[in-house]
Amino acid sequence: MKALGEFEVWFVTGSQDLYGEETLHQVAENSGKIAAALDAAGSIPVQVVWKPVVKNAEAILATCIEAGATDKCVGVIAWMHTFSPAKMWIAGLQALSKPLLHLHTQFNRDLPWAEIDMDFMNLNQAAHGDREFAHIEARLGLRRKVVSGYWQDAAVQDRIGSWSRAACGLHEARHLKLARFGDNMRNVAVTDGDKVSAQMQFGVTVNGFSIGDLSDAVRAVAAAKVDELVAEYEAAYDIVPSLRAGGANREALREAARIEVALREFMIEGGFGAITDTFENLDGLKQLPGIAAQRLMADGFGFGAEGDWKTAVMVRVVKVMARGLSGGTSFMEDYTYDLDPAGPKVLGAHMLEVCPSISDDRVSCEIHPLSIGGRSDPVRLVFDAGTGPAIVVALMDMGDRFRILADEIDLVKPDAPMVKLPVGRAVWKPRPDFATATESWLMAGGSHHTVLSRAVGAEAIADFAEMAGCEFLLIGAGTTAGGFKKELHWNEAYYHLARGLR
Ligand code: MN
Repeated sequence: MKALGEFEVWFVTGSQDLYGEETLHQVAENSGKIAAALDAAGSIPVQVVWKPVVKNAEAILATCIEAGATDKCVGVIAWMHTFSPAKMWIAGLQALSKPLLHLHTQFNRDLPWAEIDMDFMNLNQAAHGDREFAHIEARLGLRRKVVSGYWQDAAVQDRIGSWSRAACGLHEARHLKLARFGDNMRNVAVTDGDKVSAQMQFGVTVNGFSIGDLSDAVRAVAAAKVDELVAEYEAAYDIVPSLRAGGANREALREAARIEVALREFMIEGGFGAITDTFENLDGLKQLPGIAAQRLMADGFGFGAEGDWKTAVMVRVVKVMARGLSGGTSFMEDYTYDLDPAGPKVLGAHMLEVCPSISDDRVSCEIHPLSIGGRSDPVRLVFDAGTGPAIVVALMDMGDRFRILADEIDLVKPDAPMVKLPVGRAVWKPRPDFATATESWLMAGGSHHTVLSRAVGAEAIADFAEMAGCEFLLIGAGTTAGGFKKELHWNEAYYHLARGLR
């Protein structure tokens, strides 16, 4: 089973009736081979389903409507093996409600120089047919991705795979239910936002629930379930002595497990893919959920601290996009810096809630006081993130629109072990360099909370934003502070105009 094998993308090949039966038979056979090869590609995590070649406006419209009505279909790949007059595509493309990838390829890789004749050229004319199709896509102003190259090339398949992951992310966003315990941290701007607009744009429903009800559920957890989960902790992590059986803080570990059991049951029973909590509203809870939030994230749930539902949405969406890839994805916060001019670094962490999936090492389970929240000491998992390339992604509400901002980073080892910092932590160098990256991030109003992913690349995030109709800004190897500032100004004008009058 593929990592996202419950989802399909449909491979739709355009042609027209004009060509005659023999040619159309060949078109169907060739496109079937391409769809089968993409379906078999290890880098494409969804099923690629070949659809009968469409030759007229009625068949195109029917296919597009069917794609929209088929929940497991997360996107459509279109390719014009031959010429397919694009007025035939207008109604279908207008009706298409799923992400669209225009694959610009050709069945034969090499041009048969000595053998080529008019029949061969008429059959293999994507160079020509895809331009006609692309014209109507542009004319209709469709959100889409174009991938160009030979269908057997690994780079082409990788990009289709990355887009497929983004399409699964959008499918998840459109079905996502997020539960909030407590509101945003008081007076914080960037974690706030318009939940109605978010539902209109991404599909996610964001609703509040009583922390008192959760506290009651925590009290009601059966002792046997707590025993079972504590045993799971002991098998998975290095437990500090005070949390072990007979240790001074053993009951705190059991309380943390009680919170996890109740929270997990609440999420599963309610069909929630993401949650938020806040240290300002813990009525009845003895600890701020630490290990519970960390382990729920490790199992693919979204989480946002201090009521940050937007970041919780992105954690969940990126977790779905990343399924089957190595490296992990976590809620993250830019915390403090090492400003050594030889190579400034960011230290990312949170009070507690960092996902252990981003670590390559054994994880330690510890208990320490928390300076805020006014509750008992919370149990948490402590570790260092692995090293290598990664991204940090933020979602902000800019008032008139949402903005997704990403920075490509390189996770590095800390200069020395941080033995007195008892949280999950990550150290990185932002690209292209510290000053350009942070100046651009600040100019874009980027949040302190992010999603850090070692699994998913920036292209997939860009694809997700395109599919959702959301502004996307990337800070990476090619970024200059001046160019980025211009992009911000241009985007202000573009989104102001594109929104239009209501
Ligand atoms: Mn925070």
